[in-house]
Amino acid sequence: MSKYRELAEKFGTPAYVYDLDVVAESRDQLFGLLPEGFHLFYALKANPHPEIARELRESGDRPCRAEISSTGELANALAAGFTPDEILYTGPGKTNGELEQAVAAGVRLFSVESPTDLRHVGAAAGKYGVTVSCLLRVNTTQGSASTGIRMMGRPSQFGIDAETLPALMPALMAVPGTRVVGAHFFTMSNAKDEDSLLGEYEFVLRSAAELRDEAGLPLELLDIGGGFSSPYAVPGPRTDYPKLRAGLEALLDLHLPEWRSGEVELACESGRYLSGSSGSLLAGVVNVKESRGSRFVILDAGINAVGGLSGIGRLLPAAVGITEGEDTGENGVTGSLVGPLCTPGDSLAKAARLPELSPGDVVTVPNVGAYGATASLIAFLGRPAPAEVVVRGGEVVSASRLDYGRVYEVSP
Ligand SMILES: *Cc1c(COP(=O)(O)O)cnc(C)c1O
Repeated sequence: MSKYRELAEKFGTPAYVYDLDVVAESRDQLFGLLPEGFHLFYALKANPHPEIARELRESGDRPCRAEISSTGELANALAAGFTPDEILYTGPGKTNGELEQAVAAGVRLFSVESPTDLRHVGAAAGKYGVTVSCLLRVNTTQGSASTGIRMMGRPSQFGIDAETLPALMPALMAVPGTRVVGAHFFTMSNAKDEDSLLGEYEFVLRSAAELRDEAGLPLELLDIGGGFSSPYAVPGPRTDYPKLRAGLEALLDLHLPEWRSGEVELACESGRYLSGSSGSLLAGVVNVKESRGSRFVILDAGINAVGGLSGIGRLLPAAVGITEGEDTGENGVTGSLVGPLCTPGDSLAKAARLPELSPGDVVTVPNVGAYGATASLIAFLGRPAPAEVVVRGGEVVSASRLDYGRVYEVSP
């Protein structure tokens, strides 16, 4: 922990520290949980830092590919060394301009979320005289999951409703500039138990096989989604799924037996599992105050630096857990951890068990390598974005800061 204190002194707080050794370890662990031959897409949404993306691509025997959904993520993926043919472009609101930029950059694989989306992709491809491969993202009719964030089975901006596919298929197969090569499912996030995950994959594989048999959906490439769980902003290890690999192989043998001959290429995707545990946020204690019997520990990092999505009430409230250099377990106190912003929404933990802290102390929020800096309200109240320090083997590899929140002139 004292190495963190050194970095905090050197780069100031708030500062993220990303450990590339942990990124590599996470990738190897996740590949180990999957059957041989699976591709793994890294969702840059979780953390687009090029050093992290580069680590996922370059080191190790099995490189990740990149899953992106914006021009900014495209730039980051390319900066990290991904070649265009290693990129999958997804998202419900791909604009014509973005699509053209992606095609111009050489991206040739898109996940489409509606018939119009497919036509937009085809138009962008046509502009460059190429044909691109498309996965149809499927909004399944129902699922089996009991945990995690379910994203399918209801009306949704994501995916094409499965029940409409048989009637739509002939038209979807004939969109100029595109070739439908498979399906993309992403039905859950952050599944903490293995049975939910396997239940969901069973449903996805069964649905894919049915759509192929009944609607003529091609299955050269099948992306079955993700859902791998990793703790957020509290201590703890990445979830292990000891039965996943064998369970998934059995499900594949049952529903898509030709997977063994490589007739159908298979892919999974993950953001949080690959980058979450690599990152810690170092925050400085600015003040400690008592108000009507309650203690408030005021940090220099709030929802502008971490947990921003919670701050705007869009996700479960953050309950950040901190770790700290000294062993303070015995002398802990109860208090609220709050950030520096002028809004009561800038709360990181309420009535939490905290070490005895004073101004000038540095606390560490672990497991924030995913959905940290770029998922926060960086421009809100005009504080500088946290520094992002990348380390490997204890040595600093790079230090940078996002440049959001500035005003730039635009020409009409
Ligand atoms: C957000 C997202 C991911 C990453 O989700 P994690 O829970 O971070 O693994 C992967 N695929 C799609 C389509 C997503 O929208």
